[in-house]
Amino acid sequence: MSAPQSPPATGRYSRQELFAGIGPQGQARIRTAKVVVVGCGALGSSLAEMMTRAGAGGVTLIDRDYVEESNLQRQSLFDETDAARGMPKAVAAEAKLRAINSDVLVRGVVADLSTENADELLAGADVVLDGTDNFEARFLVNDVCVRERIPWVYGACVGAYGLALLVRPGVSPCLRCVLEEMPAPGSGPTCDTAGVVAPIVHVVAGIQAGEALKVLAGRTESLLPGVVSVDLWQGLFEVMDLRGRAPWCPACTEGRYDYAVKGAAGASAVLCGRDAVQIRAPRGTRVDLAGLAARLAAAGSVTANEHLVRFVGPDAELVVFGDGRAIVKGVRDAAQARGVYAKYVGS
Ligand SMILES: [Zn+2]
Repeated sequence: MSAPQSPPATGRYSRQELFAGIGPQGQARIRTAKVVVVGCGALGSSLAEMMTRAGAGGVTLIDRDYVEESNLQRQSLFDETDAARGMPKAVAAEAKLRAINSDVLVRGVVADLSTENADELLAGADVVLDGTDNFEARFLVNDVCVRERIPWVYGACVGAYGLALLVRPGVSPCLRCVLEEMPAPGSGPTCDTAGVVAPIVHVVAGIQAGEALKVLAGRTESLLPGVVSVDLWQGLFEVMDLRGRAPWCPACTEGRYDYAVKGAAGASAVLCGRDAVQIRAPRGTRVDLAGLAARLAAAGSVTANEHLVRFVGPDAELVVFGDGRAIVKGVRDAAQARGVYAKYVGS
């Protein structure tokens, strides 16, 4: 005699609840969890979409950049309209995610994560997901998360190669335990120099999101044992087992969170790509964007929306956000970028 059949599950999260690795109890935990995604480019788009569809209680996205046409090949939350309007990624992503799942409290924050705002923006997170493209941001996330005992998941990809690592503060090695020193800017390939294909983005984001769901559902027995590396072109899939290794770095053993100390970032200009420099404005700065757009229109081509002004002039291209932060393109160093900023925005 066959067992009585249960009625087909039809709830929004039924397929996740049916999955034994999560179950109804795991799903109930996910529904109350607060997730923070730092960086909303390729990895961040994929991560934020998966966590929103999974029904996290809240998803906060932090991103400093705006949508450009060259993003559309892999950054799955954006479309041609976002690129044409030059929308901030955090704003465009928030709108898409709200339409995907209105159960989730989605918040897009247009900001550059820094020592000045990281404590506030990461506070209360149950898990932090790395969608950034640089080690300055990752070491900052690492030190704040290790200090606050927030699990976070590192992710990176370039070309067709990618890496992922879950950090459980006090339990498993952190990013500084694994990498020791922050790699120098320009020392490794980036998506701006070596390109990147979309499939590796979704593989890495999938591994990150999988670890996050295990943490949130309380299924720590299923966590992967260490650094996962994947090369989709070479067909290499490896997991470096770190289970035998205790955390040993200054952050984990001495409570030295060097990268989270306010002011540690130093210079106000950061290379965020091969030929782009970001200028940080003092905290509290507000720019009259409409006035700036009107002034710049006399000197070149201007695209403006309620969040930013994009200007292409004879000798420079820059985007200025409402908080005075700017991204200057086509320059080689910080000094040249500051010169462009002073010329068109003022100092
Ligand atoms: Zn460590």
